[in-house]
Amino acid sequence: MNKTITLAHGNGGQENNELISKIFYKHFKNDILQKSEDSAVIEDGKLAFSTDSFTVSPLFFSGGDIGKLSICGTCNDLAMMGAKPKYLTCSVIIEEGFSTRELEKIVRSMKKELEINGAIVVSGDTKVVPKGAVDKLFINTTGIGEIEYSGISASNLKDDMSILVNRDIGSHGATIFSAREGIELESDLKTDCTSLYPQVKALIDSGIEIIAMRDATRGGVSAVLNEWANASNVCIEVEEEQIPIQDSVRGICEMLGFEAMDLANEGSFILAVPKSDEVKALEILRETHNTSSIIGRVSMEYKGKVILKSSWGTKRFLDLPTGELLPRIC
Ligand code: MG
Repeated sequence: MNKTITLAHGNGGQENNELISKIFYKHFKNDILQKSEDSAVIEDGKLAFSTDSFTVSPLFFSGGDIGKLSICGTCNDLAMMGAKPKYLTCSVIIEEGFSTRELEKIVRSMKKELEINGAIVVSGDTKVVPKGAVDKLFINTTGIGEIEYSGISASNLKDDMSILVNRDIGSHGATIFSAREGIELESDLKTDCTSLYPQVKALIDSGIEIIAMRDATRGGVSAVLNEWANASNVCIEVEEEQIPIQDSVRGICEMLGFEAMDLANEGSFILAVPKSDEVKALEILRETHNTSSIIGRVSMEYKGKVILKSSWGTKRFLDLPTGELLPRIC
């Protein structure tokens, strides 16, 4: 472990995992934390509990802002464990001199997103720090959800299960990067930032068996698939041409040398279901996004590994992202 923290330690990939396991897990170790799911399942499986901090730069971007992100981020982690988001806290750290008009705009978008989830903010905190002590505004939200579907876990994947993605990937990362670098886009590229509870509810109501769900935030789809392969000790084989990527995202990746699979998302999630439920699951996901796709399958070929299969028949390992991806993406 390095002597000092680097930006790579916040990348949602390999270095981030190292930081968590070597410092936080080491001291906080307990059975619930050890599970490393999207949210902690507490009170005999009745409640899901999760927290997230938001430092995105810029604060406003195409399709969203830090307020929308701060509600989606926490509510989505609850939804990914089959829970209905209910109660949130909202804690803000504001830099002296920040515009009250912009602050209210951000809080208004939080309210709008809370309504979509049917959740409310029941506790909060505000801190104002001198100019330069923080960059404009940071938000933390913590949430409690009521579990409506039990047993979802990253460690439940078994041979031949199907892996799906709910929509095209990488648009949040590509949008933030373009906004930050002032890249003028002629396309209508915008963040995928969305509350996922309505899609999760539709899956639950359909009666299909949900094995695992995870939103592909920092570290992108690559991180989720690697975390699952590792947690379940299985191989995940992905068909490269089945991964939906918008042309504008592909263009930005080619221009800047990014992998769309590593880019952060805020409304894209990976779903694992038994093979017998894959068609029904795809139908439900397609009601929201026609780009939903069955991207791969669980196998036992290389346990703990993710394999990317190209349309040419070649195979390569897809690893956990490493290095400084895009800091302050969420
Ligand atoms: Mg998550």
